[in-house]
Amino acid sequence: MHFMDDSLLPENQEKLVIQVAPYGPQWIPGDSDDIPVTMDEQVQKAVDCYNAGATVLHVHVREEDGKGSKRLSKFNEMLALLREAVPKMILQVGGSISFAPESDGEMARWANDDTRHMLAELSPRPDQVTVAINTGQMNVMELLTEADIAGTSFMNPALQAAYRDMISPSNPSWHVEHIRRLFAAGIQPQFMLGNLTQLETLERLIRKGVYTGPLNLNYVAIGGGAAGLHPADMLEFARRTPDGAVLTIETLGRNVVPMNTMAIALGLHVRVGIEDTLLGPDGKRATSVQQIEQMVRIARELNRDVASVEEARGIYQIGTQWKSVEETLDKLRMVPNRPTDQRGVPARKVA
Ligand SMILES: [Zn+2]
Repeated sequence: MHFMDDSLLPENQEKLVIQVAPYGPQWIPGDSDDIPVTMDEQVQKAVDCYNAGATVLHVHVREEDGKGSKRLSKFNEMLALLREAVPKMILQVGGSISFAPESDGEMARWANDDTRHMLAELSPRPDQVTVAINTGQMNVMELLTEADIAGTSFMNPALQAAYRDMISPSNPSWHVEHIRRLFAAGIQPQFMLGNLTQLETLERLIRKGVYTGPLNLNYVAIGGGAAGLHPADMLEFARRTPDGAVLTIETLGRNVVPMNTMAIALGLHVRVGIEDTLLGPDGKRATSVQQIEQMVRIARELNRDVASVEEARGIYQIGTQWKSVEETLDKLRMVPNRPTDQRGVPARKVA
């Protein structure tokens, strides 16, 4: 993204889109009193988050026994109820489906490739499904501190071992097919990128026409195979992000607020919720709703407007798809593919 002389002035920035991840599939119900378990509680949590200012809901689903659901029928049930309760909210289904170990001694792992493909067939259709690009280590233990997990199931060494070795699976053969299926179903991918090499792979896919839609990205700074917390890495990622993309910052633990505060100042977007942290910046427990409220307060302090749900849909370009590589590159404000015989940087066409 280009930063011009006036890019940090809030009136020139897109309004702030707040994603919330309030379901926290890695936690068990006893880990916090802010973990909705029954279907009613899960739907009510979406309503509360919406009322607090979140416009994108990152969805995982629990079974009645509190375990993360791996059944697509359960997702369908919840999506139908969410469409009634928060009709305009952008519903973003987490592409792992669920990654919690089934029992002690089990590995933490994402649902298998074929099951994850089934997310393209969810009904009612969600607005988005998150998509990782390239298989990566997803060691969520690396950046978590003792304070982050105090009083939770994560103090169990067997569980720590299970999460340390977790992988986010997305081989090229899988993600190319998955993007194709989501596109065909009219579901927008929300790309979850842990570093620049994943962004580069995604750009190559766009240049080859594998994906021809709006480019909505989460910069996933959770360490353990993904980016860490060096602000310069986040800034470089923002610098390398195409001008026409929408970039959201996601991290974990007590880093969520400082990283998101930088994001708000820069004109980027934020993600909060108990999937990312049980704690506020003061080290005390903070509910998903309290985390949203804090983002709204920080945005106000910086004079950055918070997007309404209609505005968030416009910023994310929900429902938009393009027909060609050229149109996509133009809309994303990327330079065109190199015409044969042209030297130097290919020039954008003047409309
Ligand atoms: Zn998730």
